[in-house]
Amino acid sequence: MRDALLQCAFSQGGTVIASSILTAPARAFSRTPFDIIDFSEGTMRRIAIIGSGQAGLLTAHALLKAGYQVTLYSDRTPEQWLHESKPTGSATRFDLSLQFEYELGLKSWENDAPWGDGTHMTLCPVPGNRMLTLAGRLRRPFLAIDLRMQSHAWMHELTERGGNVVIESVTVDRLEQIAAENDLTVVATGKSDLTQLFERDPVRSVYDKPQRHLAMVCVKGPVMGFDGIPMLPIKHNVIGPVGEGFWIPYFHKDVGQSWNLVFEARPGGPMDRFGGLKDGESVLEVAKQVVKEFVPWDYKWLKDAELSDKHGWQVGRVTPTVRKPVGRLPSGRLVTPVGDTAMALDPIAGQGANNGNKMVRNLVECIIAHGDRAFDAEWMTTTFEKFYARHGHMTYTFNNMLLEAPTAATKDFLFAQYGSDARFDNNSGAQLLANAFVENANDPALLTPYLQDRRKMHQFIEKTTGRPWLRAVASGAMSVALEEFRQWRGLEPRHPLVHEYKVAA
Ligand SMILES: Cc1cc2nc3c(=O)[nH]c(=O)nc-3n(C[C@H](O)[C@H](O)[C@H](O)COP(=O)(O)OP(=O)(O)OC[C@H]3O[C@@H](n4cnc5c(N)ncnc54)[C@H](O)[C@@H]3O)c2cc1C
Repeated sequence: MRDALLQCAFSQGGTVIASSILTAPARAFSRTPFDIIDFSEGTMRRIAIIGSGQAGLLTAHALLKAGYQVTLYSDRTPEQWLHESKPTGSATRFDLSLQFEYELGLKSWENDAPWGDGTHMTLCPVPGNRMLTLAGRLRRPFLAIDLRMQSHAWMHELTERGGNVVIESVTVDRLEQIAAENDLTVVATGKSDLTQLFERDPVRSVYDKPQRHLAMVCVKGPVMGFDGIPMLPIKHNVIGPVGEGFWIPYFHKDVGQSWNLVFEARPGGPMDRFGGLKDGESVLEVAKQVVKEFVPWDYKWLKDAELSDKHGWQVGRVTPTVRKPVGRLPSGRLVTPVGDTAMALDPIAGQGANNGNKMVRNLVECIIAHGDRAFDAEWMTTTFEKFYARHGHMTYTFNNMLLEAPTAATKDFLFAQYGSDARFDNNSGAQLLANAFVENANDPALLTPYLQDRRKMHQFIEKTTGRPWLRAVASGAMSVALEEFRQWRGLEPRHPLVHEYKVAA
């Protein structure tokens, strides 16, 4: 499977990735997400990486592959990752991100993990009112791998391949020494204290506080799929004033194929019940209550779920933040950030790890291209700006859009896609629109500009559906209105899949 994917993605170079992403739904898009990295161009310079999460380990592996002397500093051993840590996030990764991991030959459990096909979204303006659904397929599937198992394996692989791994919780004083001994020091410590070395970018960072209160829990028991839904989806429930719930097919370190549930509660809202919980059992208990109350159509599927492991949960919050890419140590030496240290995103669009992968790839490309020259502040800034222009800006924008009320363009889009059901034989305009929305999680630069601009969105709808935009939007809106009327009369809505799902369940 992996070989076939790789061959397909790389056989004709990077442009193939771009041109194949949305051939059917959006021929208008033609951009090259990445340059090809020539790993043979690397030199023997010394590079230190602090942090053994997704971003730090990918940076280390990529630079090692390119011939650099790499030292990775981790505050925990591989065994501590596996047995004593919580997962940093669900880390669902889409094709562009996965391709980079395959390019590095990293273990990704692709033969055992559940490959997800797309997203099934139910949108409720108020609890109990299922206004519409969207069911879209990705062109290539996603994977969500337990990050604890991943860091454990990737750290061992790094050592086996000749990288140097040091177990140490790095302080600013130690960072001084490390920076003095290396040509470049990359900080990939997630949202740890070292993040403070990098100034918040006040222009780009649009929030000064978290927009959701989060909970995540790994569960086993629910079947891998939903009756009547013809794919393995991320189940995405949007409950207007309450928040969002995501059920993600997941490959867990102990129980294998299972689920990762993420709750995004609006602060102070009726789902905001997870704060202060101290163990996974309590999180799961509240999760079941919340699903029963606000997402009752999924309750039967979830009600017998059990915790996958005692560390498999989290409660927290993220203030979406973009930081400046130059960190100046007290001595004046410079360090640069990658991953969550550079950009922290709310998990609402499943972008943090994907964004990190793209950032790492850009960083490595720029390190190699820089040859023997000094990694100075100008290089760090130019490197990050290149990434931000290619990926970061649209990712941050798309992610934040999902935290806000839908734009007028998004509302038109949601009506125009109404009728999507993700069936293989559905080639309707509505289905192509739904697919484009889901594909935007893989590359947010594809659809985000249209979601921001109503005129552009109308052109996009016409191009994709081959119908006048007004007809596409009006016919979706009419169908939605009919189902609203049914619900007003106390009947079940007959959205695509929902009716069958209820019957089958
Ligand atoms: C609930 C939730 C769900 C999510 N779902 C998704 C999703 O579906 N898709 C997606 O793309 N993203 C998702 N994310 C975001 C994603 O998990 C993160 O963006 C990603 O894991 C960050 O990786 P990182 O390597 O930058 O940081 P981290 O994973 O935080 O890794 C940094 C590591 O550095 C080490 N470290 C810290 N301080 C030090 C120190 N001083 N010295 C040495 N080592 C240190 C620690 O071991 C730490 O784990 C989600 C996040 C959350 C909270």
